Amino acid sequence: MISSRSLAANALRLCPSPQSYAQRACFSTIRSAPHLAIRLLDTAVPRPIRSGPRTLTTMSLTAAQKHSMTELPNLSVQRVPCLSDNYVWVLHESGSGKTAVVDPSEAAPVIKALDSRGLKADYILNTHHHFDHTGGNLEMKQHYGATIVGPAADEARIPGIDISLKDGDTWDFGQLQMRVFDTPGHTRGHITLYFPQAEALFPGDTLFALGCGRLFEGTPQQMWTSLSKLTPLPGNTKVFCAHEYTQSNAKFAVAIDQGNKKLQERKRLIDEQRSQGIATVPSLLSEELDTNPFLRPHDSGIRAALGVAPDAPDVEAFAAIRKAKDNF
Ligand SMILES: [Zn+2]
Repeated sequence: MISSRSLAANALRLCPSPQSYAQRACFSTIRSAPHLAIRLLDTAVPRPIRSGPRTLTTMSLTAAQKHSMTELPNLSVQRVPCLSDNYVWVLHESGSGKTAVVDPSEAAPVIKALDSRGLKADYILNTHHHFDHTGGNLEMKQHYGATIVGPAADEARIPGIDISLKDGDTWDFGQLQMRVFDTPGHTRGHITLYFPQAEALFPGDTLFALGCGRLFEGTPQQMWTSLSKLTPLPGNTKVFCAHEYTQSNAKFAVAIDQGNKKLQERKRLIDEQRSQGIATVPSLLSEELDTNPFLRPHDSGIRAALGVAPDAPDVEAFAAIRKAKDNF
């Protein structure tokens, strides 16, 4: 069973200042029925900040759908599990009624999720070329006539790409603006998608909960530079990464960052969540900064654990952390 202490920690993580009716309901549920609270927490629904065309409300969703939703200002994000451990994200912008799908590894489960909500994919957003992020592109494009948006640096490897974006570009998704960071390292062309108004980040396979992507086509310097573009974003940014790798990442993190109490507490919560099949994504950027070893190469304890000199540059410590994880 998940302890009420862990639930409270998770509640504060997801709803640090309960303002809406639904969020207050979450908190009262924690007190009265803790076993229900963790499901309700994912359904907390702030009121839209702007008016627009009438759109889907969570009232019409099934319980399972509500559990997979994160509601942000003008943006709902639905988690659709695909393949063995991928998360595909369905974005619905309430102002315009537009829908986008981030990294469809396969089409069938995503089309099913969209159909059940009466939505169609207007856009497909790809972070990088790997098949478990683009495998559903062409089928979904044919099914919906979706426009495919992806990294300019790797456009030749993105099936069906229509719009190529690069570092510093912005792209309008309905009433929301999306900002693009080039974040190579995992692959040579990889972009991270950021919605500042909704405080939502889609880093693909660049940043994971308690981890970062393997360096298949890039160098430690490239990946460290990429991650360093994301760390200055607001701590309340929700990190919607593309895989459920958190529990194995946590095992590695505690092995090299043994004095980190926040990490130990987070690992306990993750182990409890995973034992009940509960997703650990999204996380908050602030908790990644506190507990993700790949964002903490400056830490003296991590450096000591890996034999990195106290005065070595951060990228050197980062490379040591990545190498240690590869061999863990
Ligand atoms: Zn990948």
